Amino acid sequence: MSQTDSFQQALSALLEGQLPSQEQLVCLLSASGDDFAALLAAADRVRREQVGDAIWLRGLIEFSSHCRCNCHYCGLRRDNQKASRYRLSEEQILAATGQVAAAGLGTVVLQSGEDTWWTVERLQRVIRAIKEQHPHLAITLSIGERTYDEYVALRQAGADRFLLRFETSNQELYAQLHPGTSLAQRLECLHDLQQLGYEVGSGCLVGLPGQTLADLANDLLLIKKLDLPMVGIGPFIPHPDTPLASAPAGSVDLTLKMLALTRLLLPTSNIPVTTALATLDGGRRQRGWQAGANVVMPNATPNVYWQQYQLYPGKAQLGDSLCHSLANLKQQIEAAGRYVGQGPGSALGRKENAHAEHTA
Ligand code: SAM
Ligand code: SF4
Repeated sequence: MSQTDSFQQALSALLEGQLPSQEQLVCLLSASGDDFAALLAAADRVRREQVGDAIWLRGLIEFSSHCRCNCHYCGLRRDNQKASRYRLSEEQILAATGQVAAAGLGTVVLQSGEDTWWTVERLQRVIRAIKEQHPHLAITLSIGERTYDEYVALRQAGADRFLLRFETSNQELYAQLHPGTSLAQRLECLHDLQQLGYEVGSGCLVGLPGQTLADLANDLLLIKKLDLPMVGIGPFIPHPDTPLASAPAGSVDLTLKMLALTRLLLPTSNIPVTTALATLDGGRRQRGWQAGANVVMPNATPNVYWQQYQLYPGKAQLGDSLCHSLANLKQQIEAAGRYVGQGPGSALGRKENAHAEHTA
């Protein structure tokens, strides 16, 4: 069978709701030319039917660049002596959150390196203060691995969602890139978070050195198995002060195929266009939105710190303030024929509705 025939067969089966094999996913990930366009168009159609034309905005606050981990790809890794390290104060986080709320966004994302200075007690204080001041704002944490008890305490304080990518489902590759830790430990954290009722987001990097299409197919199967309401997928971008400095960046097209296949596997999920994708695609987010994505995370970190949070160089910038970024973003969203979603934009209710309709 030709690649196009195998592609057509695999895409039709996927659209009928069948779980694809690893081999079929590799075939779909190999799509080029008309097949590539057909894959993105199918994801765009399913996105419109299942989650509509809204694009949800999440205000991202990068509140600490300190990190105890040594992930080989990341500019914030512990051994990078050249990284600028900063921590926002509680007051600064609350002020930035106030701007997110005032701008009408429904979610704030608190992201950091794995920073042990930020004890659970300190984090709880911030979370409680945000909930007190902005009861309708959903709080997403993206702070890495913590103990089960810490995840319990943060949830009790009011955290609603948690982002923790598994990065790669290839156990050996994971171990190579994350010294002193394991994929099993990562998956246990994800399991704990799901058990505790967080709305959990996870996902992977595309284009890690040594990663194959079969690995990416397995990443997609893991995303499906975890039944994630939020899926973050971005291309790897080399940082000059890391062990992967001379590795090539991930491919934009392959990342778009991963987004499209995620949309087809999990039709009601929230899928962002990551800043890494925009960075490699000349600052544009449009192609991601046309490949199944429905979320974007404008940066609400105070300007002086924004550039210091450097996972990779050249981070795409939407504007020099949250207001300016939002104005630009709204223009891009409207130009793409979409509109800005209002409220927290949770995928959980959506999934339950889809399930109820299905079983009614
Ligand atoms: N420290 C927390 C963690 O690792 O989950 C949250 C912050 S971390 C900076 C957020 C994400 O940045 C990671 O999950 C990783 O996929 C991504 N990232 C780190 N370095 C990157 C790079 N060089 N290129 C693209 N994405 C990168
Ligand atoms: Fe730290 Fe996260 Fe970067 Fe790893 S990816 S070094 S945990 S900030």
